[in-house]
Amino acid sequence: MKTIGLLGGMSWESTVLYYQILNKEIAAALGGFHSAKMLMYNVDFAEFEENMAKGNWDGNAAILSDAAARLERAGADFIVIATNTMHKLVPTIEKNISIPILHIADTTADRVKRDGIRNVGFLGTKFSMTQDFIKSRLKEAGLSVMIPEEQDIELVNDIIFNELCLGKIWDSSREEYKRIIAYMKDRGAEGVILGCTEIGLLISDKDSVLPVYDTTVIHAKEAARYALSETL
Ligand code: GLU
Repeated sequence: MKTIGLLGGMSWESTVLYYQILNKEIAAALGGFHSAKMLMYNVDFAEFEENMAKGNWDGNAAILSDAAARLERAGADFIVIATNTMHKLVPTIEKNISIPILHIADTTADRVKRDGIRNVGFLGTKFSMTQDFIKSRLKEAGLSVMIPEEQDIELVNDIIFNELCLGKIWDSSREEYKRIIAYMKDRGAEGVILGCTEIGLLISDKDSVLPVYDTTVIHAKEAARYALSETL
């Protein structure tokens, strides 16, 4: 079994889910007392939040590059970044390590395509929704990606940072997400990607008129599968 290097804490509310899924998947695959071999570097998310607000992406890149290098030195065989948004920094982080990063967009695109879906709605932070670091990889994989209207981009983003990352799960926000997903369905989306690792805390299949693709679940399951595969 490979050792997983988990970059977590962005936020820790969703890293808990990664930790559980990774262990459960390894236990399901190998049985008995088996669990995931894993090293985790949990960042202080306050530093990240402050850097994002200031547009200081270099600051976040420096923290994650250092953390990934530490995980490699400690024996990790590959890196899992437990957030969509920080995948913006993958090109910089990659320069600092010689082990691979299991990219959240690639694993998600593979999973969506397995269901024969081509048109997807995408919900995430405003960085992930409006910039290209996730969407371009989904598009390269052959998906057509729809994001919410401008005022709803702000709303989706505010709910992530002001509520979900702080462990606040509110029915009124669930209703807003449900409304936005229904709107995307009306405009031709066949599925919706929960492209922020906390959204699964608020929305599940039963809340959605579209099939839900939760990046946390997809990414963590694929990481467990990869840990047990022969591929390096
Ligand atoms: N966890 C979130 C994501 O998947 C947002 C928090 C962050 O900025 O990393 O994008």
